[in-house]
Amino acid sequence: MSDNTAILIDAGLSPRTLKCELGKLGLTMCDLSGVLITHEHSDHIAWVDKYSEVMDVYSTDKTIKSIVDKSKKILNVGEVFNFMFGFDIGDLHINPFSISHDAVDPVGYSITQDDKKISIATDSGWVTKEMFDNIKDSNILLLEANHDIDMLKKGTYPYWLKQRILGLKGHICNDVTSSVSCNIKSVNGNLQQLILGHISQENNTPDLAYNTVYKKLCEKGLLGDTCVSVASQDCATQLFEVL
Ligand SMILES: [Zn+2]
Ligand SMILES: [Zn+2]
Repeated sequence: MSDNTAILIDAGLSPRTLKCELGKLGLTMCDLSGVLITHEHSDHIAWVDKYSEVMDVYSTDKTIKSIVDKSKKILNVGEVFNFMFGFDIGDLHINPFSISHDAVDPVGYSITQDDKKISIATDSGWVTKEMFDNIKDSNILLLEANHDIDMLKKGTYPYWLKQRILGLKGHICNDVTSSVSCNIKSVNGNLQQLILGHISQENNTPDLAYNTVYKKLCEKGLLGDTCVSVASQDCATQLFEVL
């Protein structure tokens, strides 16, 4: 959020939990100007119908259609002329970019205001050049660190699900997140916060994700003054501010 505009990305939290987390920031759901949906998987749209009663829902045409096809009623769709060209919500500029995931038209988002930029990139089996180019100059970046490959391979998931997660349209593992973080840090001296997210409860731990990425950044001498942290799926992180 900026001083004047607050938005959400994805609608996985129940309205009750959302109200509670917003309350800690002195906000209510009515203060939100919209929710940006990344893709139609259930962990990202579970409550989108409820959210749409009080705010506009933004996503690509294909994703909106796919949500409606799942019998979710979206009351208010944000009208955007050409979604992938970017658009404004209040004083925030929203720039969607394609990601590599097994959904109809999945996207990540960069959000800019003046010279400040934050990006969110989760649910991608690979970091494409398009994705990298969109996130590389962020001040705050939430990047997926979904699984540890060994934990996933030795874990209890069925074979087909392991293959799906490991595939190019699945999820990013800790090792790839580490390499991408190093690549970003080697071209961006202004990454203030690196937040690891979409951590698997079965195939990863917050400590393992953090240690893998942090260690690699330190080994390569690239950590600098970037603060690395891990986001939980149940509650909000602390409030981060671009300095
Ligand atoms: Zn997904
Ligand atoms: Zn997901």
